[in-house]
Amino acid sequence: MRRRLFIVISALSLMLCLACIIMWVRSYWRYDEAGWNQRSRNGSVGEAEYFNVVSECGQLRFDLQWYRGNAIAFPADWPTDGVSVRRPGLDSRPAVSGRYDDFGHFGFFYGSIVRPDLVSRSLLVPHWFLTIAAAISPSVWWCKARRTKRRNTAGLCKKCGYDLRASKDRCPECGTAIPAALVRRPVA
Ligand SMILES: [Zn+2]
Repeated sequence: MRRRLFIVISALSLMLCLACIIMWVRSYWRYDEAGWNQRSRNGSVGEAEYFNVVSECGQLRFDLQWYRGNAIAFPADWPTDGVSVRRPGLDSRPAVSGRYDDFGHFGFFYGSIVRPDLVSRSLLVPHWFLTIAAAISPSVWWCKARRTKRRNTAGLCKKCGYDLRASKDRCPECGTAIPAALVRRPVA
């Protein structure tokens, strides 16, 4: 059961890893954005809430933003229809200092602006980090599968590596059942 769960997680992780690589490469010439935006007005009071995920320049950016104030003074650099208008010099988004090419930050960044009328938080995670994180589980799976295959071929116990060529049914060392294919192997 645990083994099956591990294989399912590894397979999903592998797909995620491939998706990360595609997004990583794509991010250098495409700007991708997905998210949820809501903007409303009640008389002179305007309210806005955003959650956006942006992929660009080797990084994935998570924006969480909230505004409640003058309805005609919505932050000008926030998206209205799902597509951000990026205008540098405006101050309602945290200024990104850790760019991908800034090796000292390894592409990570977190910034926030908290005012009575506005809360804006941004988190940047580099695509390379997500790719490596997603690759861990499939790599462990691959190494385990290789070891099992190597031990099977050599006539060794898949669990503890004990030489099983003179044994049958169970490993005398750890008690693991011997696969039928191994039992039939002649003693060398
Ligand atoms: Zn064994």
